[in-house]
Amino acid sequence: MINIPKGTKDVLPKDAYKWHFIEDAARGTAELFNMKEIRTPVFEHTELFLRGVGDTTDIVNKEMYTFKDKGDRSITLKPEGTAGAARSFIENGMGAGLLPVKMYYIIPAFRYERPQAGRLREFHQFGVEVYGAAGPDADAEVIFAAAHFLNKLGIKNVKLNINSIGCKECRARYNAALKDYLRPHLAEMCSTCRERFEKNPLRILDCKEEKCKLVTAGAPKMIDYLCGECKEHFEKVQQLLTAGGLEYTIDPNIVRGLDYYTKTVFEFVSENIGAQGTVCGGGRYDGLIEELGGSHVPAVGFAAGMERLILLMENTGVQFPEECGPDVFLAGMDEESRTAAFGIACKLRSEGISAECDHMGRSLKAQFKYADKIGARHVVALGGNELESGECNVKRMSDGSTEPVKIDGLCAYFKGKK
Ligand code: ATP
Ligand code: MG
Repeated sequence: MINIPKGTKDVLPKDAYKWHFIEDAARGTAELFNMKEIRTPVFEHTELFLRGVGDTTDIVNKEMYTFKDKGDRSITLKPEGTAGAARSFIENGMGAGLLPVKMYYIIPAFRYERPQAGRLREFHQFGVEVYGAAGPDADAEVIFAAAHFLNKLGIKNVKLNINSIGCKECRARYNAALKDYLRPHLAEMCSTCRERFEKNPLRILDCKEEKCKLVTAGAPKMIDYLCGECKEHFEKVQQLLTAGGLEYTIDPNIVRGLDYYTKTVFEFVSENIGAQGTVCGGGRYDGLIEELGGSHVPAVGFAAGMERLILLMENTGVQFPEECGPDVFLAGMDEESRTAAFGIACKLRSEGISAECDHMGRSLKAQFKYADKIGARHVVALGGNELESGECNVKRMSDGSTEPVKIDGLCAYFKGKK
């Protein structure tokens, strides 16, 4: 037997309704916020992620699925959704059109990580991207879109944490202060953080190692080093969150995974799914489009991990609305009536009524049992008498009541039930 690759999961037909529910909530949210879907390839040139995610990030350093294709090009399966969307924005000249460009995506993403609860090698993200708007209202709108999405799923027990990591100018001042603080502790930190110290010291704050966390607990805070503009921007974001009735906590340690984040960063975190508690993360990345060769276009967005959301919903008893069975099951007693049942099912489906019939040669009694198991709302049993008289009985499964209906009139009858 060939097994599924480590860190991946099948969505079985019996569970697909959970995904449909989440995807519908994602699309519904995007529609409410006037965001249109963007679809980009599952793989891109590796270079895109080196530049668009950043070569000091865990994603690029450790987690990418990179391989050479038959034409000797370096290809990478997308580890996240922003870089592809940004590439497409530039390549398709969207910046010259109406701004802002508001987009969303639902994608599989691939990261070579150590699989555990809420951490997979193939996982799925719902994300949004708003390009062209520099003001704090765009940040707030993106945060509200994430909150609306979580709310639509029925998720209540998540906390919104926000922070600002400033712009290039204030970050430089902060990095210097952070390095001064960390320098005497370098020997106590992990080897990755010692490397980060020169390349991107801010990322040390994101380290999950206990010994590094101990050191960074007393580190200077980025928000104390914001320049006037970044400070004002962050304050306005907070005012807008409050105006819209969203509670938040300032967490000075959020720095986010990508290199090109600027100003606002945020996370929605749950305490109900163990260590991998971040269900949604986002922020502003005003430097990204330029980094990828475009003009200066401010940008803000988020990505939510769909498997973690499902886990959270399951762990906290949030109900997924179950998809219902077919409108009608058409049972046949013999060869002739089975053929008639098949024909009627085809006709009903062409009129938008979901219909099912037997494919396993079951007895009439077993067909009724099966219809009940698959949640059919009605059953029609056909035999010689019914075909001859042109009339059948429609049994309503919820209460067992029956009603005589002309076989020719079944379409109209079930349409009337919709
Ligand atoms: P983490 O700190 O948990 O590794 P991250 O900062 O790498 O998260 P992002 O790149 O911001 O995550 O991705 C956005 C969201 O995608 C995360 O908040 C999480 O819900 C989800 N996610 C990230 N990596 C995985 C993974 N390997 N498996 C499942 N979901 C993931
Ligand atoms: Mg990660």
